[in-house]
Amino acid sequence: MNLTDIKTIKEIMSRHGFSFSKGLGQNFIINPEICPEIAEKGNARQGFGVLEIGTGVGVLTKELAKRADKVTAIEIDARLIPVLAETLADFDNVKVINDDVMKVDLQKIIAEEFAGLRVAVCANLPYYITSPVIMRLLESRLPIESVTVMVQKEAGQRLCAEVGSRDAGAITVGVNYYGTARRLFDVSRENFMPAPNVDSTVIKIDINQRYNLAPDEEKFFFRLVKAGFSQRRKTVANAVSSQMGIPKETVYTTLRNTGLSEKSRMESLTMQNIIDFSANLRGAL
Ligand code: SAM
Repeated sequence: MNLTDIKTIKEIMSRHGFSFSKGLGQNFIINPEICPEIAEKGNARQGFGVLEIGTGVGVLTKELAKRADKVTAIEIDARLIPVLAETLADFDNVKVINDDVMKVDLQKIIAEEFAGLRVAVCANLPYYITSPVIMRLLESRLPIESVTVMVQKEAGQRLCAEVGSRDAGAITVGVNYYGTARRLFDVSRENFMPAPNVDSTVIKIDINQRYNLAPDEEKFFFRLVKAGFSQRRKTVANAVSSQMGIPKETVYTTLRNTGLSEKSRMESLTMQNIIDFSANLRGAL
């Protein structure tokens, strides 16, 4: 069954009485070249278990299942479960869990499903929850090696930006804390059904846990990052002081003690600058 063929998709959908839900970010891939490339670049190969988020009719799931030892997919839309039973009938190494990726116990799923395997995540993510899903995958410190996902083009730019550059945001720091992100290839809107209003990019985050702060330190670091980037036009001192309720003088002194200008903006700070500033600020409270 060719799951990138529009006629085939429409036929299956109508037979199962399925219609697209905009709210769930349902834009299905209809270009046959995209899913094999995501699977190959996303570590779907022997020795790997792949966790997929959001199957649609199973177009990517199938390519993952052809290459990896096992695929476990989480799909929130119950209407797709009978569709997938049909489209993935030829594969005995796929399991679909009908649930919300933001609510399931990912640690438990990975332990139960992928014992003895290396683990990768691959997905064409629903765009309304791109950042929360990525941060959930990273913060849970799952035993995964990579996260290869299709995201909205602008989100991709931010996720792969260099910390200390104009494109950086809180999510950029989050990604850099746990791994290294890079853009793999762009996918324009006509490659989906229905076509969304935006173009997309496939990115890959290699998880390498470069930074490993103690739990309390880490919590404070992320609070600071969130506060600092929440008001992009303000200086770090103004944003941090107003968002975290810390006297401005304390923030100024800490910036100076960290070797940073009082007028610094978050987007000009490197990863190490932020880590040092965070440690010093926490120590000053
Ligand atoms: N993988 C398919 C493809 O590439 O054609 C579908 C991708 S579509 C952009 C996103 C999928 O994620 C949809 O099937 C949607 O129902 C599912 N989804 C949306 N929110 C979800 C959630 N919170 N948890 C799990 N799946 C979700």
